Amino acid sequence: MGSASIRLADVTKQYSRGGEVAVRGVDLEIQPKELLVLLGPSGSGKSTVLNILAGLEEPSGGDLFFGAERMNGIPPEERDISMVFQSIALYPHLNVEENILFALRQRKLPPAEQQARLREVTGLLGITQYLRRRIHELSGGQRQRVAIAKALVKRPALFLLDEPFSALDAKLRRELRSELVRLHRQLDATMVFVTHDQEEAMSIADRIAVMDQGRLVQVSSALDLYYKPETVWVSQFIGAHPINLFRAQRTGTDWSVSAGTSFTAPPPLAARLAGAEPGQLTLGVRPEWIQLVPGEHPDGLAGEIFTRQVLGNEILYEVKVGDQLLNTVVPANILLGPGDRVTARVMWEQVLIFNADSGKRLAI
Ligand code: ADP
Repeated sequence: MGSASIRLADVTKQYSRGGEVAVRGVDLEIQPKELLVLLGPSGSGKSTVLNILAGLEEPSGGDLFFGAERMNGIPPEERDISMVFQSIALYPHLNVEENILFALRQRKLPPAEQQARLREVTGLLGITQYLRRRIHELSGGQRQRVAIAKALVKRPALFLLDEPFSALDAKLRRELRSELVRLHRQLDATMVFVTHDQEEAMSIADRIAVMDQGRLVQVSSALDLYYKPETVWVSQFIGAHPINLFRAQRTGTDWSVSAGTSFTAPPPLAARLAGAEPGQLTLGVRPEWIQLVPGEHPDGLAGEIFTRQVLGNEILYEVKVGDQLLNTVVPANILLGPGDRVTARVMWEQVLIFNADSGKRLAI
């Protein structure tokens, strides 16, 4: 299976008859050696999809293929997979080495082969010095590394990870993410990683499959999710800081924009809207797509600083424009305080344009 793709075809899951549909009509192809992230809010069906891949749950409808082989009904132990969960499944009475080698010993792999694989995975994960320790003598991060080593040592064709780092602190989480990306490069394994954290997804994924209420809503690269979200909902879910949403509607031959205050669409926006059907539009403006200039100038939106959050080399300002608060992220060399008058200049060439009724993005 290592070089074959994995395919979900119209997969649906309903845990009980007449009950809620946890996953509906999911079509998804996972490429060989890909690191695919399933991303979505809690309850959107990510773990259900992962468990269907693992064979821990059976689809109520649709098919699962590993290469050309239909996998419905095949038990987990016959699937050549390893799983890592948030809650770590390690044996507390065994030491690190015994935990990692547990599956290989059951399979009666020759001891020399076991030791070679042990050296490889513990070297990759930097845990060689802990082999004799018991599980309770390890920190959270060390335990999670052991859990990953235990999964990797089996050399599965498919590696499934369900929020493996979410119980760890932010710094450790970032470290382990980088390690996972390195491991993925070194091992050429196919990985499916579940998370509700868009930043985590963006930082590790080859491709991200976004789920909402049991449906797959978009599958693309991190950059495409950010710059070309297919719906308003995806645009709001992706991005470290909340996207600003404006309204636009056609009045006669012009378009008017409401962004705390109403004005005629400036030329760069008007040019893009020239081809749009008349109707209500939603404009999506990322906080990075608004520049702030101290003082009041005619070529922008007049506003006042409401709050300030220092992020490091950038600052997130909430700017009050009329009755709307705009989120803006600007370089930290522009230091402003609450009450300061500013002009917000929107980069109209960048803004996302959605049909306000369907929520779908217009490619204009
Ligand atoms: P996510 O991983 O995105 O948080 P899940 O796949 O765990 O979402 O859950 C999707 C939906 O299915 C939720 O409404 C959840 O309550 C329901 N669900 C999950 N597991 C079970 C189960 N074993 N029995 C019944 N309902 C379940």
